[in-house]
Parts: sequence; structure tokens; C-alpha cells
Amino acid sequence: MPTRHGHYCKICQTYKANEKFSGKGHAAHICKACSSAIKQQRKENRHENLIKDILFSIKKSKSLDEVKKSVVAFLGFADKNKKYIPQMCEQLARIITDAAKPFFESQSGEKKKAVFFPPEITPLLMISSCAPLNGGADTIIEGLNRFLARCDEFSEPALDIVTEEEMSAVLDSAQNKFRILDIVGMLTPLKIFTLHKSHRVFNCECGMAGPHSGDSTIFVYHPGNVSTYDRVFIFAHELGHALHQALTFDIKRIPDGFDAFNDALNLKDLTLKDKQEMFADAAAFAVLNCDELKAHIP
Ligand SMILES: [Zn+2]
Ligand SMILES: [Zn+2]
Repeated sequence: MPTRHGHYCKICQTYKANEKFSGKGHAAHICKACSSAIKQQRKENRHENLIKDILFSIKKSKSLDEVKKSVVAFLGFADKNKKYIPQMCEQLARIITDAAKPFFESQSGEKKKAVFFPPEITPLLMISSCAPLNGGADTIIEGLNRFLARCDEFSEPALDIVTEEEMSAVLDSAQNKFRILDIVGMLTPLKIFTLHKSHRVFNCECGMAGPHSGDSTIFVYHPGNVSTYDRVFIFAHELGHALHQALTFDIKRIPDGFDAFNDALNLKDLTLKDKQEMFADAAAFAVLNCDELKAHIP
């Protein structure tokens, strides 16, 4: 409906000069401003749907490969659409928290000191052990890349693994003899991730959530062939690292008593790494040296 004043836009419901309309806009009675706002809105909707799809695929992933693929899609989208990063990270953090929550709740209602995660959920939860999802966008993106790098470590076929029963026996002994789980699980329960495969020689490692944090995760892999004794010992050794972390809040600090002990043995020129490994070994020997475990583990 052209008038002397221009042309009517049915969206913003005003008369505007003819030059505010494109050729097509004239026919459709939509001004240039409204038309570009509509296009923008459609783009936003498309992005929102893409984000939903990406996050849903992460949530539904059961294997490390699946999670990896979804995280690659996440990073690809985030890289092109930076403004969505905070929102995406927040939703990802919620997905991970929700997935982990049932495992932290014990039936009896008491607080758990250690939590076992099965292989189906481990890949998803590994994201949070690599990326601090409550950090800034840059730190999270960096962490997700760290996660992808970790995924590449898992390439070999699955072999023998320390069983949950064996690990529970070690944890029971550690708790009953030295109350180690009280110390390790003081802030957050010790998290134990089981994974299907890795090229690593050892079947375990202990991950710490950085200095000044009492948060530890023990990763348990299907490794190459190792004897039963080794599998269990290595798990106990990683528990020793977790204890070290919980005692010092920083794995780079050696507990005072332990240094005195090394001096007493006249051990000189030990590197930090030597001391860390010796501490973990000493803890493992102490924990494993008990009759209950001998009955449990041949
Ligand atoms: Zn308009
Ligand atoms: Zn070690």
C-alpha cells in the first residue's frame, strides 16, 4: 500500500521511505531493517539447533571415539562462533555433572570417599578432568584440546585390567590401616576412571587437578600384559600419589617426614620425580602388606 510518505512495513508496522525497502521487500511489505533482523533471527535459530545437536551427541556418546568426534565438532563450531562459547561450556558442564551425579550418591546416604566410574561413562567424565569447565572460555577450549590429545593415547586393543574387586580390596586396606581414604577423599571423593584401552605400559595413572587442589583421579587402563601382582601394586602406587597430593595440596612438595626418612636411609641426590615415585611405592607397600589383601589377591 504505497502512500505519498513511502511504503508500509507489516513487521514494524510503520510507513517508511521507499529506499528503506528492497525490490522483494516492497512486494512482501517488509522493510530492509526488519528483513535483516528476520535473517539474523533465522541464523541464530540455526546456531541454537546446531549447539543442541552437538551437546546432545556428546551426552549420548559411550565410547572415547564418539566423545572425541563430538568434542571436535564442539571446538569447530566454537571457533567460528565465539560468542556462544560461555553458553556451550555451561551446558557441557551441566551434562557432565548430571552424568556423574548418580555415582556420587550412595544408597545408605553417607558421603562416599571413592567413586568408581564404569567405562561407558568414563570418556564423558574425562572431559572434566582435562578441562576446568567453570573456567574462562579460553581455559576451557585449551582443556578440551588437552582432552583430544589424551584421546589419541588410547589406541591399543583391550587386555587384562585390575578388577574393581581388587581395587576395592586395596581401598579397604588403605582405609582400615591408615585412613587414607579419609585424607584423599577429604574435599571430593577419589574418582576412579576405568578405560578400555591404552598403549601405556602401566595400567594406572593418578591425575591431579592441579596445585592447591585436593582433587585426584586414578585412571585405570587395559594395558599390555602384566601380572596380577603388578596390576594391583600399580593401583596401590597411584593411590600413593593421590595421598601425596591430598597431604601437600601440591605434588611438587614432598612431605617433611618423608624427606627425613630418605636422609635416614642416606639417600642423596634424589630428584623430585624420584621422591614422588618412592613416596607412592612406600605407600603402596604399606597398604598391600596385610593379610586381608593376601587372602584377596594371590
Ligand atoms: Zn519494518
Ligand atoms: Zn608413579
